[in-house]
Amino acid sequence: MAQYGQSATNITLKNMKFIADVMVGKLARYLRMAGYDVLYINDASDDEIIKIAQKSGRIVLTRDSLMLKRRIFKNGTLRSVFIKHDLLIDQLRQLHSGLGLSLNPDLARCLVCNDSLIEATRAKARDKVPPYVFKTQEDFMYCSKCGHYYWKGTHYDNIKKIFTSIGSKLQ
Ligand SMILES: [Zn+2]
Repeated sequence: MAQYGQSATNITLKNMKFIADVMVGKLARYLRMAGYDVLYINDASDDEIIKIAQKSGRIVLTRDSLMLKRRIFKNGTLRSVFIKHDLLIDQLRQLHSGLGLSLNPDLARCLVCNDSLIEATRAKARDKVPPYVFKTQEDFMYCSKCGHYYWKGTHYDNIKKIFTSIGSKLQ
């Protein structure tokens, strides 16, 4: 299988920014759960993805080998990672083992709109989260763009299990 985008090896820094194509939306969400800035527009065309990636210095995550045949990728102007697998767990493994991307759960990004999360005081969170959650959780984060609240509940623990299962060392 032809592979392109070799220049994107050894990504370890959280300040790497990505844009995901329509075929890897679920992967985008999981990378956000690890705190990465991953743009995902579910009806974006290849041209739009390329335009945005160029403008904002994002690495393109794609399952589309045809798109990567374009000159802009082949000559290294734009960086890309060709996602080889169908299954999410294999995709995460590829980025973790293959590229050295660190995967630790991190409440840093909104899963809905990718904005940075801001700490919320308990007083502010009180009316925004279910009563049981408010009682059992200490810390809350929220997205100022869409208003979603986040906390380290069962969902967070499940993500941690998934990341640990692919061999990511928790920090
Ligand atoms: Zn949001």
